Amino acid sequence: MRIVLCGFRGTGKTECGILLSRLISLPFFDTDALIEEQAGKTIHEIFSGEGEEIFRDYERQVIATLPGTGCIIGTGGGAVIDPRNVEALRRGSTMILLEAEPAAIEQRIRDTTRPPLTTLPLRDEIRLLLKERKPFYTRAADFCIDTTTRSPNEVCLAILRILAEGTASPGAGARAVRFLEASGIPENEIRAFEQAAVGGDPKTRLFAIAGNPSVHSRSPALFSRLFAHYGLNCHYTRLQAPDIVPILRLCHDLDFRALSVTIPFKSSIMEHLSGIEPDAGEIGAVNTVVWCGGRSYGSNTDWIGIRDALTDARGSKAVVLGAGGAAAAAVYALKALSMEITVLNRTVSTAEDLAGRFGCESGPPEAFDRADPDIVINATPVGMEPDTHSPLKKSQLKPSMTVFDLVYTPAETPLLRLARTAGCRVIPGTEMFVRQAATQFRHFTGISAPLDLVRSMMP
Ligand code: NAP
Repeated sequence: MRIVLCGFRGTGKTECGILLSRLISLPFFDTDALIEEQAGKTIHEIFSGEGEEIFRDYERQVIATLPGTGCIIGTGGGAVIDPRNVEALRRGSTMILLEAEPAAIEQRIRDTTRPPLTTLPLRDEIRLLLKERKPFYTRAADFCIDTTTRSPNEVCLAILRILAEGTASPGAGARAVRFLEASGIPENEIRAFEQAAVGGDPKTRLFAIAGNPSVHSRSPALFSRLFAHYGLNCHYTRLQAPDIVPILRLCHDLDFRALSVTIPFKSSIMEHLSGIEPDAGEIGAVNTVVWCGGRSYGSNTDWIGIRDALTDARGSKAVVLGAGGAAAAAVYALKALSMEITVLNRTVSTAEDLAGRFGCESGPPEAFDRADPDIVINATPVGMEPDTHSPLKKSQLKPSMTVFDLVYTPAETPLLRLARTAGCRVIPGTEMFVRQAATQFRHFTGISAPLDLVRSMMP
């Protein structure tokens, strides 16, 4: 067992770490103390003499050489900003985020010698850094404890309860198994979920793809492989139902850690979340939800998957075929790349609505030739197995075009086959999937998985 306490300074990591160490007879390692020992200087001296960057180098070295098991670790407040530290800390560990209200933090650290990280007054520095670091803390934590009104003793008891019992409501695991059984999830996946959620290790964190259907999704296989690769005590399953509300109730009762969200819930889930990232708000769709400290955070990684796959594409004019959720993400991504965009859809009013939201042109599919694009994105399901049609004819494709088909089953869609023979540059839908999944994995865990690794783990 390895327990890692992370969070802002003044949240009680050191005090609780020492106390916990006595209670469960495991050694406690405070990364700041180890840095001072290794450098032969105080943290203050490192910051004032060598600067924050050198301090972060020391910190990375110390974290990389910590014992892999049988200990409690307290990290510096900024340690989990670096995904390399998160990767090293998370392997085989239970990560517990200690939080506190800014006023409580200020009171606790006012008289300490820890160096300031900005030139701001302490109160403002705390608020600024907490805001900046919040996403990093949320991603890196398995569990979260608010220490504002708790004594170190009470925090330790809360940690011990988590380690022994987890955070699911009584009976929630068995109810969830019945839910999965009624929803047509494959039997072997139900039993694997049962193993993880009922009577297994209470520290195992639960994840799922929520959709209707979700039974064809490749996300469970991909994320399970990534969790195993990084030594994370996590289980990823499928949740499938006509309505998002019972799915969210199940997630709440079992204290799920995070969700991938797919059709048809990407918009309807938004009203149920505590916070939504601005990009997801503008797109009008959430494909990633992470829970931390009883709050749910929604974000959209689809558009990042599209933008990053297009960074080498040439030209300035783009056509998006379709006007649904994936098309909105495509338009947002193309806007971020400063493209001139035309949205073409069989239901023209839907194309007009999407184009109107983002200040683009719109029209029916027949307007394709007139738009004369450099980049074409297919955001319709046309060509998705078992469909064998292409949304465009070969005569409409020119060698100067980049054709990106968001459909990824089959790997080479009818549109991509035509585009390749027409001499176009082609981008398969798996490139979006891999990139959005890598970003989603970072939201889920704080770990930055290389694209080649994610690609190699695609089922
Ligand atoms: P959606 O919200 O249901 O939108 C579908 C769009 O396609 C609508 O504009 C719809 O037009 C149009 N459409 C549907 N059937 C059509 C047909 N037979 N002919 C012409 N247009 C048609 O779906 P979505 O979430 O945007 O997903 C669209 C595609 O993107 C799917 O194939 C999905 O697999 C793919 N996708 C890929 C990834 C990835 O990671 N690669 C991620 C997300 C989505 P109407 O408005 O007229 O109904």
